[in-house]
Amino acid sequence: MKRLLTILILSISMVVYSQDMKKPIIDIHLHGYSSIPPNVKASWAGETYAQELTSPQNTEMHLQMVIEEMKKNNIKLGVISSTSVEALTKWKTTAPESFLSGIQTDELGQPILSPDSLKILFEKGEVDILGELGLQYFGLEPDVPMMAPYYKIAEENGIPVCLHTGLGPPGGPHSFAPKFRTTLGKPTLFEPILVKHPNLKAFLAHAGYPYIEETIAMMYIYPKLYADIGVLTWALPVEAFYSTLKHLMDAGFGRRIMFGSDQMMWPGAITIAVKTVEEAPFLSESEKRDILYNNAARFLELDPELISSHHK
Ligand SMILES: [Zn+2]
Repeated sequence: MKRLLTILILSISMVVYSQDMKKPIIDIHLHGYSSIPPNVKASWAGETYAQELTSPQNTEMHLQMVIEEMKKNNIKLGVISSTSVEALTKWKTTAPESFLSGIQTDELGQPILSPDSLKILFEKGEVDILGELGLQYFGLEPDVPMMAPYYKIAEENGIPVCLHTGLGPPGGPHSFAPKFRTTLGKPTLFEPILVKHPNLKAFLAHAGYPYIEETIAMMYIYPKLYADIGVLTWALPVEAFYSTLKHLMDAGFGRRIMFGSDQMMWPGAITIAVKTVEEAPFLSESEKRDILYNNAARFLELDPELISSHHK
């Protein structure tokens, strides 16, 4: 009898534990590609992770590996952005319930759709986000004139905007992004846009790291502004990420920080990113839930039915 009782208690605790493990996650910052260079190591992710992270052989494998990583971590929804409309269509048709899509910029730094096309495709549900806007990579400030009609349409139609801020891959200006400038990633450069568009729904990708004081200033003054922690979870020394996240939490933004892996070519970064947040010693369980799911669900204004289906 006693043995039976022990087994019963053990199985109940296992059920509770597995339910706990099954809490849903939203990854607000993913990327999809129309082509991918194989076997590239994430050399800038620090020695430990660079060894683990290698790009897959092709885009199909990349997509499948991201889906596997999402399943493994119970990521119910991922916001995928791309420089290719075809890639976005492919991701969304492969797993329609798992992805929202965002448009990035072309080789000149312009969004890959015109403002009118963005509006039409948003209404059709084929595009969900303006961004990630990597204007900084092209030597452009966020309020460059060509972007004005985009912000206007985004505000009028409730299209969320994701602005790249802060850091980029080390060595970028001397290799793939000659026009990239660190100072163009300062979060306060976004201020003229938020002044002009008080109802714009926007978030700062990478939380403006390392310009965290500017992120705090902006999030304090503009209460609708959110931030994601994309790439910081796996490309920074963990102490640097934790002190940054703690700083933002201490400043009172625990309900506006969103989980994003920014996996880029390396699907394996998703698991590292989730683990890093889960293991943050200063976060309570409810703070983790907010960062990993609730804040993004609120920001994206997800349907309550969809939210409850994610928790089943
Ligand atoms: Zn990104």
